[in-house]
Amino acid sequence: MPIRALSDTLINQIAAGEVVERPASVVKELVENALDAGATRVDVELEEGGMRLIRVRDDGSGIDADQLPLALTRHATSKIASLDDLEGVLTLGFRGEALPSIAAVSRFALISRTAQAEHATRLEVEDGKAHPAQPAQHPPGTSVEVRDLFYSVPARRRFLRAERTEFAHVDELVRTLALAHMRRELRLVHNGKAVRSYRPASDPGSRQRRLADALGEAFAGQCLAIEHEGGGLHLSGWIGMPTASRSQADQQYFYVNGRAVRDRVVTHAVRQAYADVLFHGRHPAFVLYLEIDPRRVDVNVHPAKHEVRFRDGRMVHDFIFRSLHEALASTRAGAASASPASETAADERVAAATHSAASTMGYVPRAGNQSSMALPVREQIENYAALYGPGTAQTDTAAGIVPADADDTRAPPLGFALAQLHGVYILSQTIDGLIIVDMHAAHERIGYERLKTAQGGEGIRSISLLVPESLAVSAREADFVEAQPQSFSELGFEVQRVAPTQISLRGIPALLEGVDARQLLLDVLADLIELGSTRRVEEQRNELLSTMACHAAVRANRRLTVAEMNALLRDMEATERSGQCNHGRPTWTRLSMTELDRLFLRGR
Ligand code: ADP
Ligand code: MG
Repeated sequence: MPIRALSDTLINQIAAGEVVERPASVVKELVENALDAGATRVDVELEEGGMRLIRVRDDGSGIDADQLPLALTRHATSKIASLDDLEGVLTLGFRGEALPSIAAVSRFALISRTAQAEHATRLEVEDGKAHPAQPAQHPPGTSVEVRDLFYSVPARRRFLRAERTEFAHVDELVRTLALAHMRRELRLVHNGKAVRSYRPASDPGSRQRRLADALGEAFAGQCLAIEHEGGGLHLSGWIGMPTASRSQADQQYFYVNGRAVRDRVVTHAVRQAYADVLFHGRHPAFVLYLEIDPRRVDVNVHPAKHEVRFRDGRMVHDFIFRSLHEALASTRAGAASASPASETAADERVAAATHSAASTMGYVPRAGNQSSMALPVREQIENYAALYGPGTAQTDTAAGIVPADADDTRAPPLGFALAQLHGVYILSQTIDGLIIVDMHAAHERIGYERLKTAQGGEGIRSISLLVPESLAVSAREADFVEAQPQSFSELGFEVQRVAPTQISLRGIPALLEGVDARQLLLDVLADLIELGSTRRVEEQRNELLSTMACHAAVRANRRLTVAEMNALLRDMEATERSGQCNHGRPTWTRLSMTELDRLFLRGR
């Protein structure tokens, strides 16, 4: 065949392959356009999972009637005009490809009206050809209708799944956008039924509510709110408590300047931050927003813009890692923000249980305030002294018991031990209720954190191998070893380049004797080249320390004295990450007097 130029229709159909994969990708492009147009409310309406109809309606700026045909022209956009604009782009769109691509593979209509226009204008496209524009009815804003997606490209249509599946993709997509653009109202209607309604949220309370609307109470009730700033980067959002980890990486939302992205650098940083508190194979849940100077990130990497490239990936990596690591370190047992389940979530649980109990018994409890039930701490200490002999409370300071003149504000969050239950749990009385501690899990975490601190102090020593090992690597890797020997010695590795594609390993990190040092070194090398940093040695070391801590921790069925139990409670309060054991299980839980009273339908 001779070389010839493709027709516009065919060009658009080919381009559609890059951005339009399924109904959800159409919805993404259309809602993003609405958001770029400054809409305060966006309505998404679908029929048959979007395969029959997708209609997206907004109250944004609208398009001038004489510009409508341009909106459907390839590489025509109102969002950038120069390379400089592209480098600083903050709008979600900028390629000018979405509308012509979508129009090329569907029965398409664009209806739009600006605030100044007397009426709206409607432009239809079928079989790649635009019909003449017509006056139409529409309030200021824009509606786009996409019918029979891929009707003209049967090969693609066959790739579409069941209506339910396609709808689920749209639902997830709308959720992703709703989490990022909280000030805008978003609604989703499927086959005539209102499915989602995300109300606009601008204050922390309503943002929390929208978070719960999007991800459920389970996440909203078990997360830490974070906010960090530094080096021109700003990170905010919510991260799930380690004890609320998931079996799938399905609740991970990361936004760069309002755009949802999947990024290896980010994923890696988050995984590292959780490395110490999550059981293998579990995934953290998070919603994180990174704000960064748009000139420091390239968003023009992928046609559907799912990916970005950071100019300084290493700095972004370290910033995210440090922010999350710090937040997670604060998950001490007893710390307010680190309670395993939020008060409301627990309250709801109990309320539900009480409700069903009450209704079977045929009476409805009255609501009542139980805060007067809280005993002053002095009284608790007196009780404690009465039980375990006078003077215990004052003199037993080594076990961490507060002196008798302590007031409520100085009461230890985990309270005072009452007893041991079946050799497994410690029961402890606090200002407002009961705490139950899994003693092995708690002790294991404390031991682990101590070992880490002790190890961290002396740096990573290296021991020499009797027989150096030689490893085949790529030329790029060998170059790296030659150029940056200190990166390896800091980690306890002694390596040298011995040939263009060969390195020799002469020393390994002291504590890691016996592990597969070759594999570890190769992994470290890959990390250093790809990410500029690595925590593999630390991870390996921590794994080892974790195992040691587990073996050293008190076993079930060992009887503890009250003083020992109290000492453990005080240690937990003082230890980072003590809210969960080394495997990510919770170490303690709380039952407040209010919850206990509700269980017994008391004081109502
Ligand atoms: P891009 O978003 O990359 O600019 P599109 O093909 O998605 O490309 O849209 C082309 C142009 O049409 C946009 O630049 C914008 O000017 C206009 N447009 C599209 N959708 C809307 C909308 N909902 N409201 C206002 N203008 C819109
Ligand atoms: Mg667009």
